[in-house]
Amino acid sequence: MIFLKTEEEIELLRESNLLVCKTLAELAKVIQPGVTTAQLDKLAEEFIRDNGAIPAFKGYCGFPASLCTSVNDQVVHGIPSDKVILKDGDIVSVDCGTFKNGFVGDSAYTFAVGEISDEVKLLLETTKESLFKGIEQAVEGRRLGDLGYAIQNHCEMRGYSVVREFVGHGVGRKMHEAPEVPNYGSRGRGPMLKTGMTLCIEPMINLGKRDIIVERDGWTTRTRDGKPSAHFENAVAVAKGKADILSDFTIIESVLNQR
Ligand code: MG
Ligand code: MG
Repeated sequence: MIFLKTEEEIELLRESNLLVCKTLAELAKVIQPGVTTAQLDKLAEEFIRDNGAIPAFKGYCGFPASLCTSVNDQVVHGIPSDKVILKDGDIVSVDCGTFKNGFVGDSAYTFAVGEISDEVKLLLETTKESLFKGIEQAVEGRRLGDLGYAIQNHCEMRGYSVVREFVGHGVGRKMHEAPEVPNYGSRGRGPMLKTGMTLCIEPMINLGKRDIIVERDGWTTRTRDGKPSAHFENAVAVAKGKADILSDFTIIESVLNQR
């Protein structure tokens, strides 16, 4: 069952999702070599609570933290730890969720730590571009397969691979609503998109092969070949002609550009 949202509900979703981006912008101020992922998690939780919201990930299916912090070959669901000290040349994918006024915010951004290689920089740029290729398709009358195809085609044409085991999702009063939003697909296939659908689009793109493994902690997911992986996520409302983006990366990037 896909829940269509009213304009009022979409505004509440926007508020929750903008808070996620403001939280990620707070992290952008401090991500540098020497910082631990546990420090990022503490900062995020305090910021979310100070803004009258609840960290949506904490306790979700037993997840122990407010952020997922996935470093280098970790794809998603990395658990913040004081043992994970970021170092120059790392990348860290930070996925963050909020719950405010009954609605969920959910966005992710992959940050460079210090100076990263050109090869990894290009992976990050391409993954982010593919997110916006997907968003371009989130308009009334297109199908979910059009959206997945746009992401997959953009990344595979450049030699990257698309993770299949994890996908985007509907978002609303619950973090994961129908439909699933794969980052791969065939044009003209899948459910028809309608105004009022709210979706989290979140390509997880690998530099090497698409195969992944889940570690014994039951959460942390890595690439099987040990090569880096990137993850960018936005929430959008499907609309006529042009998607309404409920997240806002410019809040994060205005911080990064000042550093
Ligand atoms: Mg997320
Ligand atoms: Mg998500």
